[in-house]
Amino acid sequence: MPELSNFTTIRVGGEPKSLLEVASERELFDACKQLWSTGEDWFILGGGSNVVFDDDLSDLNIIRVVSKGIEITESNEYVFVKAQAGESWDELVEFCVDRGYAGIEAISGVPGTVGGSPVQNIGAYGQEVSETITKISFLDYQTREELVLENEDLNFSYRDSDIKRGRIGAIGWVEFRLQKLDGLSVPMASGQITNYLDKPYGSQLPLQDVRETVLKLRSSKGMVIDANDPNSVSCGSFFTNPVVDYIKSLEFPEDMQKWKMNEDSFKLSAGWLIENAGVEKGFSLPGLKAAFSLKQPVNLRLNCHFKYLRETDHIGKSCRFLILIAMGAVVL
Ligand SMILES: Cc1cc2nc3c(=O)[nH]c(=O)nc-3n(C[C@H](O)[C@H](O)[C@H](O)COP(=O)(O)OP(=O)(O)OC[C@H]3O[C@@H](n4cnc5c(N)ncnc54)[C@H](O)[C@@H]3O)c2cc1C
Repeated sequence: MPELSNFTTIRVGGEPKSLLEVASERELFDACKQLWSTGEDWFILGGGSNVVFDDDLSDLNIIRVVSKGIEITESNEYVFVKAQAGESWDELVEFCVDRGYAGIEAISGVPGTVGGSPVQNIGAYGQEVSETITKISFLDYQTREELVLENEDLNFSYRDSDIKRGRIGAIGWVEFRLQKLDGLSVPMASGQITNYLDKPYGSQLPLQDVRETVLKLRSSKGMVIDANDPNSVSCGSFFTNPVVDYIKSLEFPEDMQKWKMNEDSFKLSAGWLIENAGVEKGFSLPGLKAAFSLKQPVNLRLNCHFKYLRETDHIGKSCRFLILIAMGAVVL
């Protein structure tokens, strides 16, 4: 039985009790129903880019989703792209950008699968998948029903959804509603992208330029999986950007990064808070197996680049310790 460290971007995780790869929605749902009826511990694994497993997994049954398939339906106004859960997220973005479908281009380079994308409502550079997801197929753990859930049923919010909040089940496919805008993107809601391309905020830019810019920006921060970059040996952000109301946002310095979410709420940069609280890039302590990314001095990411891949428990403790230090520093 292969160890899960082979299937996780943070490269940790021991040998599970069982590991079943499912290559279609039907196989996924049937495998779940069978496993759930046994009462044993189970876990649905996508690209393994947002999980940290223990070394001792002798009780855990893994269902790994590797289903493939993309279907396109076009109307006058929109392109509907239905992708199986096991499709690579970034390959889907590339596929859409190549064909001139706009709406997910700024989320280029995020690791993981299509099935993992609604779980925490992935997003980057001013776009979130919840803006384009129309529906998903879902096997509900509680009722064992096979459902099609509409966007509104998932109650998406910033890096959150009902699934992440505990509506347990399996995602079979996801449908996105994209637009054909003559090879241009949707209006860019990221100053980082528009500044880089020297265009005004809110511009519609060539899709390929947006994708290339995002990949460049992400690579410079260790946010694209790269075998040669230890900073990308991570499982994504440990911190989300805190959201505060307008009055609260005035308490913070003007030069701090803030993003307006709506009339009364602002997202603050967790990276700015952490760095300005004195926790520098690459920060660690002697004996700890984890460290802040060396590439993200002003970023929210706590990338753990591990020298000792098997010592999950120590790694978990190191991560928790560093998170407490960062949080404590910010509070003080
Ligand atoms: C270097 C790096 C950069 C990242 N950058 C970003 C970023 O910019 N923005 C962002 O939002 N995230 C980012 N992430 C986090 C991660 O890529 C996303 O959360 C991704 O969507 C996880 O998908 P996955 O397939 O790898 O899920 P996994 O890690 O395999 O699983 C994550 C969760 O989703 C569940 N899940 C996965 N597939 C299914 C399915 N088919 N049905 C039901 N449940 C399922 C799992 O059970 C688990 O609870 C980054 C991660 C890394 C390592």
